[in-house]
Amino acid sequence: MTMVRIALAALLLTTSTTALADTLVDNVRGATIGANGQVEQFTGLLFDATGMIKRVIHAGDKKPRPRKEYQYHIDGKGRVMLPGMIDAHAHVMGMGFAALSLDLSETTSLAQALTLIGKFAAEHPDRPWIVGRGWNQELWKLGRFPTAAELDAVTGGRPVWLERVDGHAGWANSAALKAAGVTAATKASAGGSIERLADGAPAGVLVDAAMDLVGAKVPAPRAEDRDIAFATAQQILFKRGVTAVADMGSSIEDWQTYRRAGDANRLYVRVMAYASGVDQMSLIGGPGPSPWLYQDRLRLNGVKLYLDGALGSRGAWLKAPYADAPTTRGLPQLNQTQLGNLMSRAAMDGFQVAVHAIGDEANATVIGAITDLADTYKGDRRWRIEHAQIIDPKDYAKFARSGAIASMQPIHQTSDRVMAEARLGPDRLAGAYPWKSLKSAGVRLAFGSDAPVELADPWAGLAAAISRQGPDDQPAGGWQPQERLAAFEALAAYTADAAYAGFAETRFGRLAPGMRADFVLVDVDPLTATPAQVRATKVSETWIGGGRVWSVEDGTTAGKSAN
Ligand SMILES: [Zn+2]
Repeated sequence: MTMVRIALAALLLTTSTTALADTLVDNVRGATIGANGQVEQFTGLLFDATGMIKRVIHAGDKKPRPRKEYQYHIDGKGRVMLPGMIDAHAHVMGMGFAALSLDLSETTSLAQALTLIGKFAAEHPDRPWIVGRGWNQELWKLGRFPTAAELDAVTGGRPVWLERVDGHAGWANSAALKAAGVTAATKASAGGSIERLADGAPAGVLVDAAMDLVGAKVPAPRAEDRDIAFATAQQILFKRGVTAVADMGSSIEDWQTYRRAGDANRLYVRVMAYASGVDQMSLIGGPGPSPWLYQDRLRLNGVKLYLDGALGSRGAWLKAPYADAPTTRGLPQLNQTQLGNLMSRAAMDGFQVAVHAIGDEANATVIGAITDLADTYKGDRRWRIEHAQIIDPKDYAKFARSGAIASMQPIHQTSDRVMAEARLGPDRLAGAYPWKSLKSAGVRLAFGSDAPVELADPWAGLAAAISRQGPDDQPAGGWQPQERLAAFEALAAYTADAAYAGFAETRFGRLAPGMRADFVLVDVDPLTATPAQVRATKVSETWIGGGRVWSVEDGTTAGKSAN
């Protein structure tokens, strides 16, 4: 009898403690993709102290009772609540480093650039090298390359290395030239040149293949630099309402950075990692994908492979020659056997395979490889094709049958439109960025940004997905407008289906009981707003696992929240 009483008392205590730590957010206009793939509207969310959703409250439901069912109450003030956005293709550390490095792309004179460089050097006294990019002596109307001596005047004895806007030249100061051992006696390697003063001494700028002389001497970032870059990347994501991200091409150093953050309680964003090639995959994962770590905030899912390059540089592998370069149709970076072997090596250990394919020949080849491998590697594999930009309409059905997920970046369509027309000519545009066609054929779409190539902005992506127009509202009516998606389809590709693409659909991506409370409060309902309104969406709060990581009032709150 006594035992029973004690047990009962303990049970009551547990129950009330749990309820006391629960949080209700109500008075929201909520929308999530439901279990059936359709939109589900709701008015409130109840989650527990561990950040798990207990109830989704719908209009007309009985309201949870204060103190009985929850302790903390947050008034959503009529704002729109959505699941946290998932970026299905980004380069997380690249985002952080890009944000932290010196950017000269806006400078219009050498004097202005030198001021900026001097200021940056002064603001970062701890950095052993000053590294940056983006200068263009044409924009400066200089009529010559800048010199090492000019840099010396603002940076002193610390080495400086600044890449030109196109990446085809680098500008060093004397300390950098000295560190690299570049002197009057140094000869440029084939395919490169060294700018020289009248006496033959290096002037400061190294072109193409000669850039490596200094570039190779720039020290790799230190662990503490990586930590700062990762913290910066998280802030960039939270500000835009992104709560989870697929990191496409993680190195062991990237992985160690995420682990350090996790161990130190500084890992807030959910990272689904895809190792940069099979060697990094084995190094990070060993015999197979990692478990979900740090309350579903980190997992090594698989590997990222490259089959071809990009359309802009004519590296994308096409079935027929480029319209504006009839002698080439691009080049694969792997032959069929190599591709099959690498995919096989990952799949046999249960790693998920994500292959970069942009041209129609590259996409057809990956679909063929998946179809072949599916006989051997059965079960739920979720093969992914990254970008899937140009697809021969004849291959849509094969794409769908292969079960591959199309991991696409809507903003590439609006950025690339004019270039794509030049590269492809009019006859292939029907298969360019074919979101709706793939969706209708039965392919699952996962949307992302490819940041830092593009801004990590899911709202710009959603706007592009429903309009096929850029921020300038061009072209009128949308480019290849038959490929526009319905708003709920685009939202699914940025939430529920992006989670599915990373084997995370039982953990996050939707707002439902048993899932992590990852959500955003915004000022616009993307399901009913115009594309321009969606693009201008303001995120007022970002929450991950029931903890607020960002708010418009105080910026970051990560680390200060209850959870
Ligand atoms: Zn990428």
